[in-house]
Amino acid sequence: MPERGASGPSSIECRQIADLLGDYLEGTLPKPTRELLEWHIEGCGPCVAFLNTYRGTINAAAKLKEVEIPSELKQRLLTVLRSQRASHQPGA
Ligand SMILES: [Zn+2]
Repeated sequence: MPERGASGPSSIECRQIADLLGDYLEGTLPKPTRELLEWHIEGCGPCVAFLNTYRGTINAAAKLKEVEIPSELKQRLLTVLRSQRASHQPGA
């Protein structure tokens, strides 16, 4: 019974981690994707470091949330976060 097929830690790449991390921290990822992501990160030092950096940014954003920033500003912040995330990806 072939349980190991195309899916596994190797089926998800660091680039995809960077791409999914925002949704992951927001808790909006579907469970299988989340597990795959966690699985990858467990065995990938660079992704752990990236996750920590990303979390730091999110925490800063969460603090801003406490003082109730306007949704327009929040959108801008998200846009900045997204562009930062994009710049982490090598090449095109
Ligand atoms: Zn990785």
